[in-house]
Amino acid sequence: MCVFCGASPKVGARYLELARDVGSLFGARGVEVVYGGASVGLMGALADAALAAGGRVTGVIPASLRNRELAHGGLSELHVVDTMAARKELMFARSTAFLALPGGFGTLDELFEAVTLRQIGEHEKRIALLDADGFWQPLLAWVDRAVREAFVPDNVRDALEVLPDRDALSRWLASL
Ligand code: AMP
Repeated sequence: MCVFCGASPKVGARYLELARDVGSLFGARGVEVVYGGASVGLMGALADAALAAGGRVTGVIPASLRNRELAHGGLSELHVVDTMAARKELMFARSTAFLALPGGFGTLDELFEAVTLRQIGEHEKRIALLDADGFWQPLLAWVDRAVREAFVPDNVRDALEVLPDRDALSRWLASL
């Protein structure tokens, strides 16, 4: 599972708890996590919890961010790559589905690349948003408008699976 989520350490505790919850679920279910390799923010919380639950976690981090995002020292695998583009390429190649937790522009960049590559037929991997506290509703409102006004095809909207909570995530995992 390729997970995109925020790296900011300043976010509210409930978001870090959410990331821990998701990490524990993946660890317990034997779902290997592929993510950006940071030890901070939701990214770090997710990785720590997945490892603590006995899961495998693979990180992919560009050399330039190794210090800024404090590359996680305890991962099952850490790949240090040259560019942001190489990071996404390796993360995508190593995973069979995508999940976005709350995050900022980096999370959106990765999510949008997964969506646009699916839109042009480069893959058929499932893509879900964990919509805890309705975090993604403003984005989904934009998507709905863009579909209504024919900027985005209906099938792309349908490919974005919206999971309101952890139970929905658990059911989604079972359906993969
Ligand atoms: P953010 O959601 O902004 O906290 O960022 C989440 C992660 O996405 C961080 O590890 C960022 O370094 C990463 N990121 C930001 N921009 C890019 C990009 N263009 N390609 C790949 N990863 C990125």
